[in-house]
Amino acid sequence: MTLPTPETKMQFLFALRSKGVTDRRVLNAMEEIDRGLFVRGIFAERAYEDMPLPIACGQTISQPSVVGIMTQALQVSPRDKVLEVGTGSGYQAAILSKLARRVYTVDRHPRLVREARSVFEALSLSNITAITADGSHGVPEQAPFDRILVTAAAEDPPGPLLAQLRIGGIMVVPVGQSDTVQTLIRVRRDEDGFDYNEIRPVRFVPLLEGLGQDV
Ligand code: SAH
Repeated sequence: MTLPTPETKMQFLFALRSKGVTDRRVLNAMEEIDRGLFVRGIFAERAYEDMPLPIACGQTISQPSVVGIMTQALQVSPRDKVLEVGTGSGYQAAILSKLARRVYTVDRHPRLVREARSVFEALSLSNITAITADGSHGVPEQAPFDRILVTAAAEDPPGPLLAQLRIGGIMVVPVGQSDTVQTLIRVRRDEDGFDYNEIRPVRFVPLLEGLGQDV
């Protein structure tokens, strides 16, 4: 495992900024967390390109600029308890862990959760709890959450997740059919209900029901 050179990191941060990631705290977190630790084999060499890459279980680690834009839209503060649905490689959860008080991250594939946990341990990211479950039900025993980030596409924001969002909370979720371009939306909950904003078009793997079949 080779560490990125300062030049590689500078180009990475430049690419993020040019694609609209301007929040200083988000950029700092992305500078700090080595994306190369979250991808395996030949793909590790491409960790600093602004591209999604394949990970185990037929899933993908999201494109860094999309991670940046989603994290920025979530407006995480250091006191927040955050839920991420779709652990995947664990990269997004690691970024969130630098910005939030506590992160719960859920994936339906036990293998992905196991591998992500071992990277969190190696990086001493002790404020992340990774759970194997169908995240479309949320994590009721830890609700409500100040922030919820869904990194798989649903046709609509899942009801249980809306219910587990604290009043004053924000959820960011890609919505739309899985085989087409989806829309990233931001949902704000206030006393009177939910307010929806479109952020940009995105493409994510689908939010599926039940657990994955791997061991
Ligand atoms: N955030 C990840 C990328 C997510 S890819 C990263 O930083 O690498 C989307 C992930 O959502 C996949 O790992 C997939 O297994 C997971 N997923 C899909 N449906 C799910 C569900 N119902 N509950 C939990 N995870 C789900």
